[in-house]
Amino acid sequence: MESFKLNVLGTRGSVPVEGKNFSVYGGATSCYKIHAGNEEIYLDAGSGIVSALPAPNSNITILLTHMHLDHLVGLPFFIALTQKDRPIDIYAAERAGLLPKEAIDRLISNPFWPCKIEDYPAKVKFHLLPKKFSVGDVEVDTLEGSHPKGSTIYRLTYRGKSIVHATDFEHNPEACAALADFAKDCDILLYDAQYTAAEYERYKGYGHSTPEEGIKVAEKAAVKKLVFVHHAPLRNDDELAELEKIFGREGKITFAKFGDEFLL
Ligand SMILES: [Zn+2]
Ligand SMILES: [Zn+2]
Repeated sequence: MESFKLNVLGTRGSVPVEGKNFSVYGGATSCYKIHAGNEEIYLDAGSGIVSALPAPNSNITILLTHMHLDHLVGLPFFIALTQKDRPIDIYAAERAGLLPKEAIDRLISNPFWPCKIEDYPAKVKFHLLPKKFSVGDVEVDTLEGSHPKGSTIYRLTYRGKSIVHATDFEHNPEACAALADFAKDCDILLYDAQYTAAEYERYKGYGHSTPEEGIKVAEKAAVKKLVFVHHAPLRNDDELAELEKIFGREGKITFAKFGDEFLL
């Protein structure tokens, strides 16, 4: 039986951090690797993608939620880009009137970077995100989330099991109802819980959510496992462990840690 697997490569929101106080939950920014048969699908290309080691013959796809730097900054360092003629498919929605390649060109080009993405040895193909499509035998559904200038929520389904990735998502009644519908009965929901409820009062409109709101959505959607992601950059391991003591439930609700692996 071929596995459907999720590997956590980058948990942090906003900016990478490092040091001994961030060694458990991890300091790299958003990146989750999904393995399904011969498909390797990366959700976002934050600095977490730098530690990815793709299998030699897998099909590589990158699904971008949006173009904020914390979700993209690892892309120029993705090892597969240096592999000659390796096909890499990148999907993203149009943002700020820019097609995916046009947006990437702004970051990966002079003076920010010495070359353009087409100068790498790999064969990169960009796709404007369809509402629904498939990557090999993985079905991909999309939903536009609630975030300044937008962020795509993905649902990946393989052999009857589903993973939903809802990062850079800010709760409001309408957005939460749509997400609960979209995530209905999924096996894993990755949910943006950057703020505590108290912090959220100061950061309304920044496009992130809280554990309390994530739990409400997960309950409404009857999600099997809820994993909080996009940790605040300066929230250290002790503070995250404290939050996990309050909100965690064995096997049901956790805070993502670098190196976590979930088998479905
Ligand atoms: Zn972000
Ligand atoms: Zn963002």
